[in-house]
Amino acid sequence: MECDPRAHGGRDPRNVSLAVLTDSPAVEHLIGALRQLPGVGKRSAERLALHLLTAPGGEAQALCDAIAQACRKIKRCSICCDLAEVDPCSICADDRRDRSTVCVVEQPSGAMAIEAGGVYRGVYHVLHGVLNPLAGIGPSELTVDRLLERVKAGGVKEVIVATNATAEGEATAMYLTRRISPLGVTVSRIAHGVPMGGGLEFADGLTLQHAIEGRTALPGA
Ligand code: ZN
Repeated sequence: MECDPRAHGGRDPRNVSLAVLTDSPAVEHLIGALRQLPGVGKRSAERLALHLLTAPGGEAQALCDAIAQACRKIKRCSICCDLAEVDPCSICADDRRDRSTVCVVEQPSGAMAIEAGGVYRGVYHVLHGVLNPLAGIGPSELTVDRLLERVKAGGVKEVIVATNATAEGEATAMYLTRRISPLGVTVSRIAHGVPMGGGLEFADGLTLQHAIEGRTALPGA
């Protein structure tokens, strides 16, 4: 049974500074790993580490198990490269989806955001990043070849590039246009509604609906 120090008038260990543990390489390693998570800064990482180290009821082990199980079961769909527990994923396996229209997104979160809008009936392709030469990310680090294989296999009439409205997202859209347009497939780009510098996951469903409906064709190479 877990001992709650508050019940005995002691201080809640979760309010104790982590300073006493900073000479522990194991704790430093944990904090460093937590800081790799999106949106988690140094202070948040320290708070999370302290919480995990002091939480009762095997909470930390349950989290470890959940992460391990999810990582073991979730794979990339062999068609669209989105994350899924089955292959092909439920969208690629759905005969009611329009497979002639492929929406290209940077991350699974982009596809999830568009799906939440409930309007788009085509299929997706997840790049798992954007071109970023300064960070050493070129086409081979993304799923560009798999996308080109899908287009070359036939049946695709339009590719909607829904990369984020960032410099890297725009550069990736231009690169994809240069590669796909010569194959005789229309390449369009979402244009309206998505804020400059913003990610798809932060836009509401209506904004994304307008962005999809207001897409514009990109000039070929
Ligand atoms: Zn899929």
